[in-house]
Amino acid sequence: MSQKLHVVRFLLLALTLFSGCAEKIVTAPNKPSQDAHLALGNPSRAASAFDNYLLEKRQYALAYNSYRGTANWVSWHLSSAWIGDAPRQDNFRADNTLPANFYKVVSTDYTGSGFDRGHNCPSADRTLSADDNSSTFLMTNMIPQAPNNNQRTWANLENYCRKLVDEGNELYIIMGSYGKGGEGSNGFKETIAEGKVTVPNRIWKVIVVLPVGTDDVNRITPDTRVIAVDTPNFNSVNASWASYRTTVDAIEAKTGYDLLSNVSKAVQDILEARVDEGPTQ
Ligand code: MN
Ligand code: MN
Repeated sequence: MSQKLHVVRFLLLALTLFSGCAEKIVTAPNKPSQDAHLALGNPSRAASAFDNYLLEKRQYALAYNSYRGTANWVSWHLSSAWIGDAPRQDNFRADNTLPANFYKVVSTDYTGSGFDRGHNCPSADRTLSADDNSSTFLMTNMIPQAPNNNQRTWANLENYCRKLVDEGNELYIIMGSYGKGGEGSNGFKETIAEGKVTVPNRIWKVIVVLPVGTDDVNRITPDTRVIAVDTPNFNSVNASWASYRTTVDAIEAKTGYDLLSNVSKAVQDILEARVDEGPTQ
């Protein structure tokens, strides 16, 4: 075989390999990414008010209510791009990014209250780095949560969300609380920390489930799975979150918020009126 033919063959082989790679890049399946926490909207149009103050962190966004000492709601994107090996930091602490005239709840404000320092955005949803995990322990991300609600009902729902991610989905999660008075392990209380922190009466969550992809808001259709739950902040709560499934419309009516406001009105009307009947584990 001539030297020339060898060169031609080599070039053909190189070309084949290269075009194979190029094709792979074009047709690669969607890779999970970290997307905007408020892509689906700002439910209470939070901005700079004392009772509706927008805090946008890299790891989640929230509307803080300084009268209550808790967030009105916390919103975050969850995909496998947020999950890694960082250990739980457990560094509960005041959030000093709040303006100077806001009371900054400290970890010990919950001590002896009979309520857990319950995460809105869960520790286990932010494990890519120690910094990410640490951000979930800011007290602006906490509510006084009845231990059985936090450790059973809510833990089960949080685990199910991460299972949905393991199954190839990405989620938009909005969690909030409203009303006054709950029952922890030391009985019924309306406030803790000498009135600086209000104990919510109800704790809700809305979860939008999408297969991993891009341009998320625009691919939400009437068939998109939306899970809405609204639970009592009482130790007598049922461990099964599924028994508290409701509609987004019902949560909007209770809170006065407009959830999923960046989704077209026609699609919102359908999704928000439906009670999820999908799998629960
Ligand atoms: Mn609605
Ligand atoms: Mn809505």
